[in-house]
Amino acid sequence: MNLQNFHYDVAVVGGGPSGLAAALSAARHGAKVIILERNGYLGGNAVTGLPFLGFLDKQGRQVVGGIAQEMIDSLIEIGRCAGHNRCPLHNSVTVLDPEYFKIIAMDKCREAGIDILFHCELVDVNVVNRQMTQVSVMGKGMRIDITASVFIDATGDGDAAFLAGCSFEKGQKETGLMQPPTLMFSLCGYNEEEFFHYLEQHPEDLQPAESMQVSQGYDVPYFRSHRSYVFLGLRNRLKVLNEEGCNPLNRDTLIYINSMNLGQIYVNTTRIYRCDGSDPHDLTRGEIEGMKQITQLVELLKDKIPGFQNCYISSINPSLGIRETRRFSGKKRLAIDDVVRGHIPEDTIALGSYKVDIHSSVNDSTILRDLEGPYGIPLGCLISDEIDGLLLSGRCISMDAPSLGSVRIMPTCMALGEAAGVCASLSVDQGILPAQVPVDDVVALLKEDQAILSI
Ligand SMILES: Cc1cc2nc3c(=O)[nH]c(=O)nc-3n(C[C@H](O)[C@H](O)[C@H](O)COP(=O)(O)OP(=O)(O)OC[C@H]3O[C@@H](n4cnc5c(N)ncnc54)[C@H](O)[C@@H]3O)c2cc1C
Repeated sequence: MNLQNFHYDVAVVGGGPSGLAAALSAARHGAKVIILERNGYLGGNAVTGLPFLGFLDKQGRQVVGGIAQEMIDSLIEIGRCAGHNRCPLHNSVTVLDPEYFKIIAMDKCREAGIDILFHCELVDVNVVNRQMTQVSVMGKGMRIDITASVFIDATGDGDAAFLAGCSFEKGQKETGLMQPPTLMFSLCGYNEEEFFHYLEQHPEDLQPAESMQVSQGYDVPYFRSHRSYVFLGLRNRLKVLNEEGCNPLNRDTLIYINSMNLGQIYVNTTRIYRCDGSDPHDLTRGEIEGMKQITQLVELLKDKIPGFQNCYISSINPSLGIRETRRFSGKKRLAIDDVVRGHIPEDTIALGSYKVDIHSSVNDSTILRDLEGPYGIPLGCLISDEIDGLLLSGRCISMDAPSLGSVRIMPTCMALGEAAGVCASLSVDQGILPAQVPVDDVVALLKEDQAILSI
């Protein structure tokens, strides 16, 4: 087998939103950084057409700044992001162009001097006396070993921590079930005006699933007022179609995200029940099922819903989007009580404020629980309590399952990544373990970098 090896200060595994922010912050603070990514682009689930939710809290106050906001500013500058829009359902919605997100992410990494290794999947890690010393990736039959002082696991599923044998939890406490994956796709040829006109005549069709409480003002004038919106609704119409036997998908809510391009929308409506996104067999079943659901849904929309008759599929995401898999054990653990009561501890390195948003793994329902204000995520949630030199970032950090319902959104994941990157760079700089880095030093650098840590 062809074998290569390299050494870095910081190796970031996974180039999604949290890995991107982690790599940028570590490199900008002087570390020699590599990102290891199995795809041929950066962005992970941020480049599937999803909007960034939760930059603002329920009251409209901004709770995430730093690199996440910098990405938005760069996209706005070239006209590829519609900016933050307050939303009666999601607190705030920020629609952006995923293709330009990829380009800008790459440009920023190159400017920061980060090495990128694409098309390589993590296959092994080496741990000596509790210390992670190496990760190994494989691509095209080539094995590449990377030694580093600090490793940041930004794979979403926590693959590096898993391979290192760290303890983890999966799914809701009572059932062990995880939120369902979704295969996202985009439609072109959509006639927004015709659909809005239909909704104005059938306001009852604005209702999404019964489980979602929609505040006043989530209506057609709101959708018309800003490009940054997400549509959730059509419950009544889908129910009738169901009864008539014309809705093979059996979903009761259409969810689409407006895009930066006229006539194009991104659809987030498929659901793969009882699917473990960290199991390749389940993932394979999910891809096949997802593709089938897309075909059924598009036929249904074209046939039965005004505004959709000339639609065609312009892209299907290269793989399923995974909402929830493993959460690892850290020095601290974010608990839902702290999230709900808006606790902001001294060692906060990121704020979250998005609703607790839990999609059911067995049926159509979605729990959306409002938060009055932001909560703080402590640095300890990012530090493995079992393996030295390993930081967790993004949706695999140390927290309980209900907390993930809020933490998992992309601005928050980027804020976590930024903090992990700062902590890693300080660890390298000071020649100490990430767990020994004083939290005050992390907080001071994050504040210099425009992170928002208090309200
Ligand atoms: C269907 C769906 C809808 C969502 N809707 C929204 C929304 O509207 N707004 C919002 O803000 N958030 C939304 N989220 C949540 C959000 O997209 C994710 O929680 C967030 O992207 C997680 O960021 P991450 O960096 O931790 O992981 P990811 O975005 O999953 O990135 C992980 C990266 O690591 C790479 N990787 C994984 N494993 C390996 C490996 N073994 N080797 C090498 N590379 C690897 C992946 O290719 C990927 O690039 C949604 C999620 C889903 C699935």
